[in-house]
Amino acid sequence: MRIFNSLTRKKEEFKPIHAQNVGMYTCGPTVYDFSSIGNFRTYVTSDVLRRTLTLNGYKVKSVMNITDVGHLTGDGDLGEDKLAKAAKREHKTAWDIAKFYGEAFEKDSKKLNILPHDVVARATDHIKEQIQLIRRLEGKGFTYKTSDGIYFDTVKYEKDTGAKYGELSTLDEIKEGSRVEKNPEKKNPRDFALWKFSYKGGRSFDSAQDDAASCRHMEWESPWGFGFPGWHIECSAMSMKYLGETFDVHTGGEDLRQTHHPNEVAQSEGATGKKFVNYWMHVTFLLVDGKRMGKSVGNAYTVSDVEKKGIEPLALRYLYLTAHYRDPLNFTWEALEGAQSALERLRSQVSNFSSQESGGGKGKVKEYRDKFTDALDNDLGTPQALAVVWDVVKSDISSVDKRKLILSFDEVLGLEVSKVPQVSKVPKEVRERVRQREELRKQEKWDEADKVRKEMLEMGYTIKDTDSGPQVKKLRVTSNK
Ligand code: AMP
Ligand code: ZN
Repeated sequence: MRIFNSLTRKKEEFKPIHAQNVGMYTCGPTVYDFSSIGNFRTYVTSDVLRRTLTLNGYKVKSVMNITDVGHLTGDGDLGEDKLAKAAKREHKTAWDIAKFYGEAFEKDSKKLNILPHDVVARATDHIKEQIQLIRRLEGKGFTYKTSDGIYFDTVKYEKDTGAKYGELSTLDEIKEGSRVEKNPEKKNPRDFALWKFSYKGGRSFDSAQDDAASCRHMEWESPWGFGFPGWHIECSAMSMKYLGETFDVHTGGEDLRQTHHPNEVAQSEGATGKKFVNYWMHVTFLLVDGKRMGKSVGNAYTVSDVEKKGIEPLALRYLYLTAHYRDPLNFTWEALEGAQSALERLRSQVSNFSSQESGGGKGKVKEYRDKFTDALDNDLGTPQALAVVWDVVKSDISSVDKRKLILSFDEVLGLEVSKVPQVSKVPKEVRERVRQREELRKQEKWDEADKVRKEMLEMGYTIKDTDSGPQVKKLRVTSNK
């Protein structure tokens, strides 16, 4: 199996540390909002990697973190805490926010058929481990204190270990340390927070200092006073706890390669003196109109937006698979519709195969199986793997074999192809009208939009406008004609 390693920028033969077992870690969500279908491109890729490793006979231990303690919105470890901000917005505590969106994430992951991870590690459950790791770094002299926290000293780290900070990054400014920063107390612009004080200057345990403005729902005692961990330290502490100080594969979205992952490497290797991760894999962003899909950009759709349009989440999984994970994928509703149709066609083929007579072409079964495996083993070539599925559908091998083959492929693809094909809950014609109506409403053509709504009613569907877009439902009682 070959995978593209972002560390060496080369496709490499995958050689695990242990012959049979592979350890992999995926940077999970910060649970202050619903994860977008952009985020899920990364998580589905990670799932396909895990299933491909299993196909290759490895026993995989998969670990994902949940960032449930808010890191800061601004650059330079300044700005507002994302969870605290959401708590204010929703009049809840940061703990409630983390719980609610954590559960939502789990539900969406299930809908996308992402296998449950062996370990789901919450940052707030691992404060002790994070403090221990910072202590180790402190012991080696790689930390310093400012008025707002304990920082990692990247220059001292490079000097003492001979390592180069930021090797993963493609930005020269990170490697050279010229990133523009607003935190004047840092010794070097690329240094980063390991621990942040809840109170400016730190608050000792016995002080009754109570500054409402800086009061947090989430803070812990530490050797440095009340505070909370910096964003990066959790991934080093938790991955090493569950996978060992050196492990096989670490994945995440392409943005993490610039700062978060270089920081993970520096902290981990700084503390242990060992190589942290052998293979780094980064997923290229899902785009909308050529721009990154992201909550901060304001163009993010969620899994429930997809469902509200009458499209099933697995159609999204199909769409992701149509592009290679290192190629950009531009999201459109039309493309998702296409994926839904293709998935329905595939399921209907598979269900027919079972009832058909067996035929010839036995020798080709192995050929197709090899082609499929080769596609995935070549740095997760999912578009090629899907093409093999359709080649099998059209081939002259027996229908029994076709069915068996495609079901076995589905162990990796995870599309539930054996699901009894249903005419999608909301027919395509209705979905098209939903889109049409939305477009008209955007252009403030209310009368025309209403006409489309009436057409939909005649087709037996109602539409309700909600905060997150239109919701389509089949009318319970359709009129007798
Ligand atoms: P976040 O919740 O923003 O920390 O992101 C969670 C994961 O999703 C990270 O691995 C990000 O790199 C990844 N990610 C964020 N936006 C996108 C996108 N548009 N496409 C693919 N992955 C993304
Ligand atoms: Zn991480």
